[in-house]
Amino acid sequence: MTDAAALPGQPRGAVVSGPATARTVNVLAPNPSAMTLDGTNTWIVAEPDSDLAVVIDPGPLDDVHLRAVIEAVERSGRRVGLTLLTHGHPDHAEGAGRFAELTGTKVRALDAALRLGDEGLGAGDVITTGGLELRVVPTPGHTADSLSFHLPADRAVLTGDTILGRGTTVVAHPDGRLGDYLDSLRRLRSLTVDDGVHTVLPGHGPVLEDAQGAVEFYLAHRASRLAQVETAVEAGHRTPSDVVAAVYADVDRSLWPAAELSVRAQLEYLTEHGLIQG
Ligand SMILES: [Zn+2]
Repeated sequence: MTDAAALPGQPRGAVVSGPATARTVNVLAPNPSAMTLDGTNTWIVAEPDSDLAVVIDPGPLDDVHLRAVIEAVERSGRRVGLTLLTHGHPDHAEGAGRFAELTGTKVRALDAALRLGDEGLGAGDVITTGGLELRVVPTPGHTADSLSFHLPADRAVLTGDTILGRGTTVVAHPDGRLGDYLDSLRRLRSLTVDDGVHTVLPGHGPVLEDAQGAVEFYLAHRASRLAQVETAVEAGHRTPSDVVAAVYADVDRSLWPAAELSVRAQLEYLTEHGLIQG
């Protein structure tokens, strides 16, 4: 999400989980916080019979973690063929340059400023490294540059911060926009309904096995928050911080600065749709 600062005194060394799906393994970065949950999930994706792996979101600039990712790839008898970014927040992307240096790979991302090499990444692109089929799904809203990756062979989608394994995500106004985010959630819902995706591999938190349920929960949560914000404005709460205090009273205060970004995105959405006066 947004805050990649390591907590003092936390244990060092990355945690490698078992296979999440047939083609994916998660290496957990040691950057837990209120914003990053257990830490950033760095995903290794590879075809079972291939010697090349794709790494999605190397994570924070932390050599212990980056080397743990490389070791996990090498232990499976592979090498890293390509690095991809779901978006540019530092807890996902800050280590990408160093990771590319260590692995000699290119970095592909929607935002040209994050790329290393000449290839971009966008709607309709299909990553075929090592025989994979990884379809790029534009999912702006958390940030303007957010992408998800559809892995049809595992009926899975890697969602970055667009859908998290626990809780809900921030619409990071002004870069992130609520209308875009709702469209992105609907796009992900159609992957679950029309393309049989049932597993969400998120950028933070645990794997979700009911992808459609997760998307429906996010859509319902957004609709309910939006109604609460509209009600708060009608009740006379005019500033974003007033609205946060009224609407996010149930949320830990350490998350209020992030909640204020979402509130600003919601106020913009309500104003643009003529639902409140700007
Ligand atoms: Zn993020």
